Amino acid sequence: MFRINAEVSDDFLLVLENLLGKIKTSDPQLIYISDKPNIKGEPANSLCGRTVEGLGLKNGDMLYVTYDQNTDAPTDKPSQPILASSVNGKQSVPMIPINVKDFEVPSGVGPMKVEQYPVDDLLEKEDGLIKRPMGHYCIHGPKGMCEYCSPLPPWDTNHRKENAIKHMSFQAHLKEINDLKNNRNNASSYIAPLDTPNYCIDLNCTNGHKPYPKGICSKCQPQPITLQLQKYRMVDHVEFADSSIMDRFIDSWRQTGIQRYGVLYGRYERFEKVPLGVKAVVEVIYEPPQAGEADGLTLLPWENEQQVDQLAKELGLYKVGVTFTDLTDSGNNDGSVLCKRHKDSYFLTNLEILMTARNQLLHRNPTKFEQSGYYSSKFVTCVISGGLEGEIEPRSYQVSLSAEALVKADIITASTQPSKLYINSSNDTRYVPDVQYLELNEYGLEVKTNAKPTFPVDFLLVSLSDSFPMDPKPMFSSTTDFTIENRDFMGELQDLHKVYQYLNNDTSGTGSQLFDFHFLVYLYKTGILGNEEFAMVLNFVKHHNYEDYLRLVESPGWMSLLTILEQSS
Ligand SMILES: [Zn+2]
Ligand SMILES: [Zn+2]
Repeated sequence: MFRINAEVSDDFLLVLENLLGKIKTSDPQLIYISDKPNIKGEPANSLCGRTVEGLGLKNGDMLYVTYDQNTDAPTDKPSQPILASSVNGKQSVPMIPINVKDFEVPSGVGPMKVEQYPVDDLLEKEDGLIKRPMGHYCIHGPKGMCEYCSPLPPWDTNHRKENAIKHMSFQAHLKEINDLKNNRNNASSYIAPLDTPNYCIDLNCTNGHKPYPKGICSKCQPQPITLQLQKYRMVDHVEFADSSIMDRFIDSWRQTGIQRYGVLYGRYERFEKVPLGVKAVVEVIYEPPQAGEADGLTLLPWENEQQVDQLAKELGLYKVGVTFTDLTDSGNNDGSVLCKRHKDSYFLTNLEILMTARNQLLHRNPTKFEQSGYYSSKFVTCVISGGLEGEIEPRSYQVSLSAEALVKADIITASTQPSKLYINSSNDTRYVPDVQYLELNEYGLEVKTNAKPTFPVDFLLVSLSDSFPMDPKPMFSSTTDFTIENRDFMGELQDLHKVYQYLNNDTSGTGSQLFDFHFLVYLYKTGILGNEEFAMVLNFVKHHNYEDYLRLVESPGWMSLLTILEQSS
């Protein structure tokens, strides 16, 4: 039994397309649809061109599908129980019920109410079916459809292989397990499709025993863990809204040889190149207080973090990840750098894996489809280091859901080898179960290897693609750059004199200088503009409404800013 979602106004063709994604194999020309069991009904094609409403179908209606078994590829049989009997040697499968989208799921039965990222709200409503053109083997007319040209589900493995997509998108993964858990069986009771593993021992369990470490039972003891490469990713791609964002960040290393750390502010958007994909679009790299060295750095307390978050929020931005440099000049005097990170060393060190997991645990991904309201994270980690040709290149990663759970349960720590993580031993507050990892041996077979005492960090890594847009439209488009924060160590100070010079660069009178996040944060910090006046600034930056700018420059706050700037210069 399958549930097919449709709008009342949808053509029945869409319902049929949806069904084909589920039964996969049949030629629609040979499908018959009936509203009664054991009756062959009408050819499916004859119902196309009419709407769901037009056919008199309502939410929850059951339809019965009959199709010729002979057209099924033998390996592709539907795996779910087939409930109906045979009619004239044809197989009859109860299909649907039609699930009209404005149907309200009874509370406590369906997905919970959580404020998700807008991109998830958007993608959730789409089926993500991968359309295929009519091909070589199709023997039907232009309106027909067969197993060679029917759309594929967004989680289709072959499509991923053919397009070199390493991981499926989160939404495709979600739809696949939702399909397994809720659509394929008789969905009378809803099961939250996502499930976060918990590797922590329950220290409060007294199920016939004293709490751990004095006692333990099968209920409070975490299950053995098997690590494997995660087949989906929460974010597929990282896009820097403009290459200058990255360039200015790397510039601090170019000028000083000191490594740099930055926080990525931006938003999550649809990524078209992957079915139901998501990209993190980075609009600004904010550089929090830090003490850098040539071979690493230490983060210092970041006092105005909330203020920066708030300003970003008012502009529709939030933290989407972090970035840091790991750059060493090659000594060839040609701007090239050493390639330290590759398949024979590591892509992220064990310490970076741990940091990434902690960051992900701090920035959880809200979702309706996990009982807790959260599942994993969309927080990305971008390393800027040397590529194989000695070029400077950003590479973006996440760690897996298992990595988050291992860190949360305090099971892993860094070993002396950057490419290996160490499995802690059990103690009074920590019970460490057996940990194994799955890898392919030389014959291509999966083998389980004991992960104790150390295991390769790669098993926890998820890699993302990244790019700069062909036609950049960055939010912060100021024609000149204001000094970046916390760069005193390289002789770059943010002060009123800098503001004076910076604003005087704008001879056009269009207010273009306001389109610089580093400037906005500094301007806010000075406290010279009143709240209302600052709101005009943000409004102007957000909506490009020139009226806001004109009102701003006539406001008393702006006048006093100009007076103060004159005096300080
Ligand atoms: Zn075809
Ligand atoms: Zn117990």
